[in-house]
Parts: sequence; structure tokens; C-alpha cells
Amino acid sequence: MSLSKASFSSWKVASANKAEYKTGGSSIKVLTKMAKPGRNDPCHCGSGKKYKKCCQPKDDEAERQVIAQEQAAREERTEARRAQLAEERALDEEFQELVTTSNAATDLVRAGRLEEAETLARDLLERFPHVHDGWDRLGMVHEARGENKQAADCYRKAIEIIRAEPEMYDPQFADVFVKLVDKLDPPGAAQTTE
Ligand SMILES: [Zn+2]
Repeated sequence: MSLSKASFSSWKVASANKAEYKTGGSSIKVLTKMAKPGRNDPCHCGSGKKYKKCCQPKDDEAERQVIAQEQAAREERTEARRAQLAEERALDEEFQELVTTSNAATDLVRAGRLEEAETLARDLLERFPHVHDGWDRLGMVHEARGENKQAADCYRKAIEIIRAEPEMYDPQFADVFVKLVDKLDPPGAAQTTE
């Protein structure tokens, strides 16, 4: 019995499908087994030998490799996803930390507890130097003390950060601080009015 064209081409189709198994999932074993000749059937290569005496070891090895690659790819995806989730979680926690500290500083300024507010503001500056919050809160502290020029300097720093991080900040967000700076430290005003 010679290998029919039909069964040979179905083998090739099944082999070609292996390339897609990396993304395809669990149908690999079923398809491969279906397409394979039996151990004692003539080999698909046309040698006339029994499959087990001819190409089967090579085919089995190829199949093992595909399965191993598939497994490795799956583990890699799982690991990548896990790392991504961990990173997101860490960022979430960091962001929460930022928001909480920033809000606490605002509350302290409003409560007139300026020393504590300043401590939090400086803490923000140290831990989150690339967000505007630290300078914003420190500006509020100076403003509450009537130290307008120092407050304006803090708000200028906030503006710098906002403009330097266009992916994080809407550029119009800087306008609030520009207005504050104009009010607290108007250009052309005498330097000695504080
Ligand atoms: Zn063969």
C-alpha cells in the first residue's frame, strides 16, 4: 500500500499547522495524532519502510519540540502577565500613596498645621520628584505663612514639572499655577513688598 496523495497532503497540512500551535492552544496533539500514520503503516516519506522504522522517531522528536516550545511560550506569557500585574499593582500602590500623602498635606494646610504639612510636602518632593504635588503643597504652606515669593517659586517648579511631562499632564493644568505665580509674585512688582 503506497501513501495516497490525500493522506500525504493532510500530513503536510497538519505539519504546517504546527507553526500555528504556538498561539493555537490545545488541539495540537489531537491533530498530529490524526495525521500521523500508524506505527506499522508505510511511512509518509514514500520510502516504503514502516513508519516506526523510518520517520517516526524524527517526527516524534519534532512533535516533542513543538509541544515544549508551546509550553515555554505559555510559561513566558504567564510570567510576563504576572510581572505586568505586579508592576501595575506596585504603581497603583505608589499612586495611592502619592494621592493620600498629597491630600493629607492639603488638609493639614487648611487646618493650619503648617509644620506637619511642610513635612509631608518635603516627603512628597523626595519620594515623587517627577510629579508636581510636592511643589504644589509646599507652595500652599508658604502661601499660608504669607511667604508669597517662596510660594511663587514653588509654583514655578510645579509649572516646570507639568510642562516637562506632557504625557502625564494636560498642558492647561499649568495655567492654575501661572495665575497663582502672577498673583503672588507679580512681574515688575517691588521685590521688598513681602
Ligand atoms: Zn520515512
